[in-house]
Amino acid sequence: MSNVPVAVVTGSNKGIGFAIVQALCKQFQGDVYLTARDPARGQEAVAKLQGEGLRALFHQLDIDDLQSIRSFRDFLKEKYGGLNVLVNNAGIAFKVHDTAPFAVQAEVTLKTNFFGTRNVCTELLPLVKPYGKVVNVSSMVSCSALRGCSQELQQKFRSDTITEDELVELMTKFVEDTKKGVHGKEGWPNTAYGVSKIGVTVLSRIQARMLNEKRKGDHILLNACCPGWVRTDMAGPKATKSPEEGAETPVYLALLPSDADGPHGQFVSEKIVRAW
Ligand code: NAP
Repeated sequence: MSNVPVAVVTGSNKGIGFAIVQALCKQFQGDVYLTARDPARGQEAVAKLQGEGLRALFHQLDIDDLQSIRSFRDFLKEKYGGLNVLVNNAGIAFKVHDTAPFAVQAEVTLKTNFFGTRNVCTELLPLVKPYGKVVNVSSMVSCSALRGCSQELQQKFRSDTITEDELVELMTKFVEDTKKGVHGKEGWPNTAYGVSKIGVTVLSRIQARMLNEKRKGDHILLNACCPGWVRTDMAGPKATKSPEEGAETPVYLALLPSDADGPHGQFVSEKIVRAW
């Protein structure tokens, strides 16, 4: 088994994830895993980095596929006995003008952004080594979507005692409410992406609390963040930041020094802790 530190970035064959891997290759002392659901796209991205003189390793990882997550988990366990840095970056968003029914957009978006990210955390968090860092890429949209929720939902999502099961129940209810056409009446905002990112931010707050309760002595720091508005296939060419600029806050959180005791359990953008 190798003692080399290891960093993992999900959905990193392009966009912000690719830029995060690129930065980690330069700044992280250890093996950096570029992961992608499609091996050809992943290998191509690794080759691109190699062309820049950077060494990333590749492993397949589709966060929608539990088997794929588990085989990556087993690989990390066997080869490294765990991992040191996990960046949950993979995500999807329907285009504004997409004509797919809202209920379909809700189900598909939540499946990857919330349930897929949660499945990766369920399988990989127990493997994160002491002084490890976990970064969940959420979005500022989670904050605006939260403000668009009913007072009752806002209170639940801001609660310091909400459990992961309760959060899963709420995310499932959102998808069901959209299918019944009652999501507005039930207090949800009109954004599937926004609700999925509320899920990611609240999940991060819960997971940080669980780490405090169960693994306090391990000094693991876990946060949610927003990369900003970044020029990628998701956000388009009019966005204000380059992918490299978008990677700055996630990389800052991934490389917090070992003597840092925070941020932890926070929502961070532009390297600043924001109110939730
Ligand atoms: P992007 O260019 O569309 O890249 C998304 C990445 O996620 C791609 O590598 C994609 O792989 C991967 N992915 C999607 N579904 C996956 C799955 N099931 N398993 C594994 N990988 C999967 O988007 P981006 O702008 O870089 O976004 C990265 C993250 O930042 C997302 O979580 C997004 O919500 C968040 N974010 C972006 C912005 C922005 O302005 N761009 C703002 C706030 C937050 P394929 O190539 O195979 O599709």
